[in-house]
Amino acid sequence: MTVADFMGAALGHPEYGYYMTRDPFGVDGDFTTAPEISQMFGELIGLWMVNCWQEMGAPDRVHLVELGPGRGTLMADMLRAAKRLPAFLDAAKVTLVEMSPTLSTVQERTLEEHDINWCSSVDALPSDAPLLVAGNEFFDAIPIRQFRMTESGWREILIAIGPENDDLQPVLAPGSGPAIALIDPSLSNAAIGTTAEIAPASWDIADRLARRIAEQRGAALFIDYGYDGPATGDTLQALRKHKPVPVTYEPGQSDITAHVDFTALRRVFSEAGLNASPTATQGAFLQALGIDMRARTLLQSASPQQAKDIASARDRLIRDDGMGKLFKVIGVRHPDQPPLAGLEPQTDRDPI
Ligand code: SAH
Repeated sequence: MTVADFMGAALGHPEYGYYMTRDPFGVDGDFTTAPEISQMFGELIGLWMVNCWQEMGAPDRVHLVELGPGRGTLMADMLRAAKRLPAFLDAAKVTLVEMSPTLSTVQERTLEEHDINWCSSVDALPSDAPLLVAGNEFFDAIPIRQFRMTESGWREILIAIGPENDDLQPVLAPGSGPAIALIDPSLSNAAIGTTAEIAPASWDIADRLARRIAEQRGAALFIDYGYDGPATGDTLQALRKHKPVPVTYEPGQSDITAHVDFTALRRVFSEAGLNASPTATQGAFLQALGIDMRARTLLQSASPQQAKDIASARDRLIRDDGMGKLFKVIGVRHPDQPPLAGLEPQTDRDPI
């Protein structure tokens, strides 16, 4: 099977898929994400959303959407920060796009104070108002395909059952296959042994979402670990209890992710008619949104232990040796929406 079929089943098989059966986050789980590290992350993104809403003229109704919300922590922090503007909370209807029944239950508990809708794909999003969309570590969980350059050109990497035992192992497909056409043509001279990755399933989701935003107006923000293309290198990885394990080891028992090619995503969003920001680092983005000021405010009412935790969470989120540089941010918007805070140069505002 293709790497994409393997990854899709390992993560999303209704009975055995990794996300379908468990809550994998936190110290006792397999990995930790930015919203689980500090409330500051979601609060700043919540204010970013409020700002987008104000800049679109504060419409009476807007859909606040999150793709792949995990435990629901990011949305809870966004909504808490948004309380500063009750008119926004009145206008905002929350929709979570989630495939896992187990995680939907966790989200329901985290967000019990709020009125929430769920849907399982972007196609099912409501169509009657602008969309403000967030996704943290969403695209890294969407299946990718991998190719290897050989003496006879690009060949797809497949996952097969080994000849001697039942162990799964990567093999090369006999021919190149039609998906080869999706590989960046600039890679045609890649050295033998080079791995290339494509993410057609992510591009499909991005395209469907982009068409909705182009029609309904709005903006979207994606944070993930990744790079600006070309997409060479093997970025597929599996994590179990915070440690790397082989990708094919006990499928369904570890988190499998791939780095996101932001250049390719940007192209999909642009081709569907949206304006896409350059890629920013998470560190630069959170600092532009005022994480230092938020940390100082929280420190004012913190115990000595809490103060230590706040300072170390801030460092972990923004420093180069934490998540600040590896994690990247891209924002996309309807062309009528003004440039996005923290991601694009701001146009001059009228004096108040
Ligand atoms: N955003 C959260 C969780 C990231 S993990 C955080 O930052 O903590 C990835 C999330 O995406 C999980 O909630 C997983 O169930 C969900 N997910 C993965 N593939 C999906 C798909 N195709 N459709 C909808 N949700 C998906």
